[in-house]
Amino acid sequence: MRRLVPAARDPRAVFDACAERTQNAALRTQLLACGPTIALLANEYEELAKNSALNTFSDTELYPLPAPRKELGELYARVLRDGGERPTYDSIMQLAHQSICPQCGIGRVRTLDHYLPKGRFPELAVVPLNLVPTCRDCNFDKNEHHSSDEGDYVFHPYFDDWDQYRLVSATIAYQPYVSIKYSIGSPHNAPPIVITRATTHFRVLNLAALYSMNAGASLAEIKVNCLRASTQGAALVRDYLRDQEDAAVRSAPNGWRAAMYSAMAKDDAFWNGAYNLI
Ligand SMILES: [Zn+2]
Repeated sequence: MRRLVPAARDPRAVFDACAERTQNAALRTQLLACGPTIALLANEYEELAKNSALNTFSDTELYPLPAPRKELGELYARVLRDGGERPTYDSIMQLAHQSICPQCGIGRVRTLDHYLPKGRFPELAVVPLNLVPTCRDCNFDKNEHHSSDEGDYVFHPYFDDWDQYRLVSATIAYQPYVSIKYSIGSPHNAPPIVITRATTHFRVLNLAALYSMNAGASLAEIKVNCLRASTQGAALVRDYLRDQEDAAVRSAPNGWRAAMYSAMAKDDAFWNGAYNLI
């Protein structure tokens, strides 16, 4: 759930550039004639996204278009991803910080996800604001997820910023072995719609399992650090965990580390010695 700054790209120019690279002259003419409508839809998309209202995006089938909708969808793979407009595709991929997937905060960006799915909205197939750099898992898990329910939408990295909320919550499970369980909490400062959407985001992208796995892989190292701190007393273990939480919150308030260290620092049994069960 990391915010990205989108590239300032004119959606009409990107669409026209893709359409121009169509060799079939008749199809090229049809596609280019779609330009004004694509620009209109891209503008509507941006306005709705700014207001977290993409669930109300037009039923695009109502718009008469001179080219078959299937051909609009195919522009993405044929020209943007695998053809002559690949530099535009690459420049959108590069919006992700350190190539880290903005949706999970863990995976490596390998693909562009159509935020409003291409199957349902082929008119948005090459609209830059609808193309989000993600890892393969997030793209696969989200797939064609789409709903007209306002709470049923994942985080949109170009328009949403949830860093002011601590939405991700963790607890320590001790049976059958020490593990960290994740969920979306209800921070008092977060609007209900953000909590609902964060819950959708977690469920659709299967983040509870991913976060738990990453936390599990870090536990052995944390045990070593707790043991080292404990030579100065248990309170120092708690201080160490709080310091780690503080650093993690600064870097990713809704990442798996921030919630994990918060749970450990709050769990009296853990910092008093239960870390030895790891
Ligand atoms: Zn991801």
